[in-house]
Amino acid sequence: NRSLIVAGNWKMNMTVREGMEFLEKLGPVDGKVMIFPPYTTLAVLAGEFRKRGIIYGPQNFHYKESGAYTGEISLPMIKELGCDCLLVGHSERRSYYNETDEEIQKKIQAALKEGFSVMLCIGENLEERKSGQWKNVLRKQLEKDLEGLSADRIPYIQIAYEPIWAIGTGVSASTEEITETHRYLKAVLSELTGSDIPLLYGGSVNEKNAADIGSCPGVDGFLIGGASLKPEKFRKIIEVS
Ligand code: 13P
Repeated sequence: NRSLIVAGNWKMNMTVREGMEFLEKLGPVDGKVMIFPPYTTLAVLAGEFRKRGIIYGPQNFHYKESGAYTGEISLPMIKELGCDCLLVGHSERRSYYNETDEEIQKKIQAALKEGFSVMLCIGENLEERKSGQWKNVLRKQLEKDLEGLSADRIPYIQIAYEPIWAIGTGVSASTEEITETHRYLKAVLSELTGSDIPLLYGGSVNEKNAADIGSCPGVDGFLIGGASLKPEKFRKIIEVS
């Protein structure tokens, strides 16, 4: 059994109290488990995540160190919480908050400079998948978002491939689609960085399909939304990883 990365993106879910209950029900974990909680829960439960060996970090952040940016959170604030890995470029941020590849590139550069690792999310929409444009779309995202990446920061990068059409639908991409897409992305990443960058799949991963998806070549782990909110489901996914 290869050891896969199991990452949960809690999105705008989980109060502090719910997060604590989740951790109690989840019990001890081993392997590479990551959780991206909302800020409030992140701040209060940072010590609890660390105690359990769970890697934790925010779902978003600003690239400036401080200043008049109402509603934003900076990297020094996140560092204070002992976070290791930051989520960047989730499709919900790209589409609901108009986050551009230019901003994502700045965020990645700022985070890497501060010594964090980042998990960059990329993905195409349904129209781009159907029209066969997905390869171009994904390549462009990687090229723009990773622009200026220096060789010594490459070990701090992970990518989550999340086809937008599979997020929150209950129906993941097929194992054929995942295999083909991951093969393509691994080739592009190798071309851009000269390295075998960890590549996670996200989009309706659950306790039933995780073993099959995890056995696809080129899949190094999962980024999980809905099923990461339920300790029994999340635990089952960790067990098959
Ligand atoms: P779901 O697992 O709910 O489809 O969400 C995937 C996702 O967007 C994780 O970042």
